[in-house]
Amino acid sequence: MNSETKKCQNCKQSFTIEPDDFAFYKKIDVPPPTRCPSCREQRRIAHRNMDYFLRNCDLCKKSSVSIWHPDVTGYKFYCNECFWSDKWDGLEYGRDYDFNKPFFEQFEEMYKLVPKHISNSMFHTNSPYVINAREDKDCYLGDEMDLSVRCMYGYAVQRCTDCVDCHYINDCEIGYELVKCEKCYNCFYCFDSHNCNDSAFLMSCRNVSNSLFCTNLRGVKNHIFNKPATAEEIEKMKQEIFSGSSSKIEEALKQFEELKNKALRRHIIGTNIQSSTGTFLANCKNCKDCYSVDNSINCRYCVDIHNSKDSMDISIYECELSYDSLHAGPEGYKNIFSHLCWYCSEVFYADDCHNSELLFGCAGLKKKKYCILNKQYSKEEYNKLKEKIIAHMTETGEWGEYFPISMSPHGYNHTFAQEFYPMTKEEMLARGWKWYPEVDIARRHNIEKETAELPDKINITSDEICKEVVKCEATGRFYRVHPQEYQFLKKHNLPLPRLSPKERDHRRWNQTKPRKLWDRQCSCDYKVFENSVKHQHHSEGRCPNKFKTSYAPDRKEIVYCEQCYNAEIV
Ligand SMILES: [Zn+2]
Ligand SMILES: [Zn+2]
Ligand SMILES: [Zn+2]
Ligand SMILES: [Zn+2]
Repeated sequence: MNSETKKCQNCKQSFTIEPDDFAFYKKIDVPPPTRCPSCREQRRIAHRNMDYFLRNCDLCKKSSVSIWHPDVTGYKFYCNECFWSDKWDGLEYGRDYDFNKPFFEQFEEMYKLVPKHISNSMFHTNSPYVINAREDKDCYLGDEMDLSVRCMYGYAVQRCTDCVDCHYINDCEIGYELVKCEKCYNCFYCFDSHNCNDSAFLMSCRNVSNSLFCTNLRGVKNHIFNKPATAEEIEKMKQEIFSGSSSKIEEALKQFEELKNKALRRHIIGTNIQSSTGTFLANCKNCKDCYSVDNSINCRYCVDIHNSKDSMDISIYECELSYDSLHAGPEGYKNIFSHLCWYCSEVFYADDCHNSELLFGCAGLKKKKYCILNKQYSKEEYNKLKEKIIAHMTETGEWGEYFPISMSPHGYNHTFAQEFYPMTKEEMLARGWKWYPEVDIARRHNIEKETAELPDKINITSDEICKEVVKCEATGRFYRVHPQEYQFLKKHNLPLPRLSPKERDHRRWNQTKPRKLWDRQCSCDYKVFENSVKHQHHSEGRCPNKFKTSYAPDRKEIVYCEQCYNAEIV
């Protein structure tokens, strides 16, 4: 089959379906998409909340951290214990399929009644305010934070200890403002750095220790601005910058920004990548248009997945032969148009189902098989009815489409969609999507402080400051410094934050954007950057290599192809 250019039903832009894509749709027996990849992603992630709320469990009435805004009504949310208990069974909500009504209408009627997990978070010790997380100890306000200890604020924090305000970090200990870092120890304000220690302001470094303001270094210690320095010089500079002063850190961050703009960039950030496009990839083979993906093979249009295979349009987690699903897995197999199904195989339009297989249009089921709209069937009945429903949905134009955004109980403004596809309140409401007001982590009360009133240096404050409510200087949102956060900041001579946790989150997300690719030619021409060696494939003039990259052509960074980057860096 040839590639085909289609017009997106939603944004009206054209998009291309490649022969490999057609083969995939055929293999899993779904029609080719009617929307472009971005519109498909937007629709999916509008079902994924990114804020923290408090609600009472609708069964036991206990208060719990919640992924559901307190204003969301008409649904039932159960705390962790109640959700996993035998006090209810999803089959109680089962119903017959009505061929006179659209599928989504019938599904939504049922979906509203079936209890949902309040926080998608479990097995923690003293970590009541983490969401979409498991097995944390003494952690606070983390999302996708797993197996971590004393970590606070951030997204995708895995097996870390004492890390605060970090995004996408694995196996790190003592870290602050790290983004896309692995196995770092005692590091601050670093980006894309692995196996580094006792350092700050590093970008794309590997095995670097006791260094400041360095980029693209490999296996060195005691460096400042990519040049060797004495241990005393480094210690002196560290003491100046890490004095607990906000203005000193601001200054250092400005210097770091300038440094990053002049540094070489590899067109894809990642390690061990074969025949793949996107960025932030590790151990990937034939993964196209993928972002933050590791240990995966033959995937396309996927984000935040690990150990996955032969899948397309997946946002978050782990699966095989799956398509257009959100939080597929762990161990998802053939999760199709589904959401939050753990250990499930061959599930279609399933939501919050667990340890189940062969479900169609089901919600909140555990350990079930051959169910449609939460009703139990025999194998033969299931197969027959499923085919009939697919024929019906093909007629109504629903088959092949993910749950519409209007069906998401979340306010669009509280979802990942708002981070990556921002809209105004008016635009959301005009489209029939939900909008809910911001909820400040710290509610307004008598002692309110502007950030200008905060002392420049943390040293002269006491933990009394944790009782005060501060107004974020960027967003005006109110927040409080958490006592555990305060202890961490003071111990490491870091200043009090001037921004609310949500704004800090947003700025770290910005470091991982965009999730989009452009065609570019390698910038290497021996002029934009002073190369240290002759590059064998072009001993003079501009490198002819072309690639797809997430650095737009008008960006000021110097973007090199793999050959030129490796000639300079590795
Ligand atoms: Zn579109
Ligand atoms: Zn409960
Ligand atoms: Zn090149
Ligand atoms: Zn070159």
